[in-house]
Amino acid sequence: MIWNKAKECMAPEEKRKLQGERLHKLVEKVYHSTPFYRQKMQEMNVTPDDIQSIDDIVKLPFTTKQDLRDNYPYGLFAVPMSQIIRLHASSGTTGSPTVVGYTRKDLSIWAEMTARCLSAFGAGQNDIFSVAYGYGLFTGGLGLHYGVEHLGATVIPMSSGNTAKQIQLMRDFGATALACTPSYALYLAEAMEKAGIPRNEFKLNIGVFGAEPWTENMCKEIETKLGIDAYNIYGLSEIMGPGVSHECQYKDDSHIIDDHFYPEIISPDTLESLPYGEQGELVFTTLTKEGLPLLRYRTKDLCTLTDEPCRCGRTSVRMSRIVGRSDDMLIIRGVNVFPSQIESVILEMEEFEPHYMLIVNRVNNLDILEVQVEVRDGYYSDEITKMVILKKKIAQRLHSVLGISADIKLVEPYTIKRSEGKAQRVIDKRIFN
Ligand code: ADP
Ligand code: ZN
Repeated sequence: MIWNKAKECMAPEEKRKLQGERLHKLVEKVYHSTPFYRQKMQEMNVTPDDIQSIDDIVKLPFTTKQDLRDNYPYGLFAVPMSQIIRLHASSGTTGSPTVVGYTRKDLSIWAEMTARCLSAFGAGQNDIFSVAYGYGLFTGGLGLHYGVEHLGATVIPMSSGNTAKQIQLMRDFGATALACTPSYALYLAEAMEKAGIPRNEFKLNIGVFGAEPWTENMCKEIETKLGIDAYNIYGLSEIMGPGVSHECQYKDDSHIIDDHFYPEIISPDTLESLPYGEQGELVFTTLTKEGLPLLRYRTKDLCTLTDEPCRCGRTSVRMSRIVGRSDDMLIIRGVNVFPSQIESVILEMEEFEPHYMLIVNRVNNLDILEVQVEVRDGYYSDEITKMVILKKKIAQRLHSVLGISADIKLVEPYTIKRSEGKAQRVIDKRIFN
């Protein structure tokens, strides 16, 4: 179902007009209320009057995570604290946390955005959601929570962890939808199987997964293991939280909620705008945010954009899956490697579990990539020759995809640590050398 047809299916020209009006108002606002932006705009010789249409956005300055850190905690807030009714902080996957603040209106828009996503996943008032994203400073838990309530469905505020209880309550309460990170979904699937509870005792049929990069192959794996339809939801706390973009029933890239969050793609090196279709860094401008409005925020997430029409009727720009964060890109012997490429290979091969760790080290001035991967039950063997053949098979496949060789370490099922939130799959020891 389309939650807000008027906005989600707006004619592109009309949408651009709305975006332009919103941008102009936003720039007026931050110019007068945020010294940081006024100064940046003055340095670039830009005034709010220069911003008359959405195409003028390229005249505006970028914002980075470092800017948020430099102005910690509230320096970029555009309203007095008396109007801020909630704070969150980014989970600090990379570096120290950043604080974000929301006004009452921001929270109400956020709830609607998340409801739009859930509705695109086919969820409605009769659904019962187990929200297993962490509740707290992380935006995942509360973001989904209020989206489910806004949709009119039922929310079970589980938060993450306590896996045995999660499973019991999903069964007893008849949960029809599960929201968590893809890596926790895998963990739950495995724990459900281990607990020996038959699948037909669960009513689950929708998965709402995001907060970390995951591949198409991982999606299929989770769908098979849990027997559900899994959908991608994307967001980041600086822009709002979960609900910045979402898949629809066609799962052909994710719709960006671009009446509120204007997307651009830039080259992370030259900072120039790139045309749709080219891979680059995703940049967002919050068109309607009051508490912490951001101009051209550099997400560090790498993907492509498209404005081709989607069969569902929504007219928004769509984004591909995130290939990785530019921070996550490993440079190994001069070659760029994304963990997602390795994940894709592992998941293509039936001999392996979707659990892996990448260890990067430098020995005698040479980068070494070690891929630890769990061999599936039934394929693991004490016979060395069998394991050697398996190792060779994955090593060759990885080499053809990555263009470099990796040391493979096959490990027994269930030996790699499972994640309840965002998975940590890379240990780069070179940083400390
Ligand atoms: P942190 O930067 O501390 O991880 P957040 O909790 O706000 O802060 O996480 C936002 C980031 O999580 C995004 O910038 C992106 O890298 C990642 N992310 C969120 N949703 C998805 C998704 N569906 N697919 C890929 N990556 C995602
Ligand atoms: Zn669509």
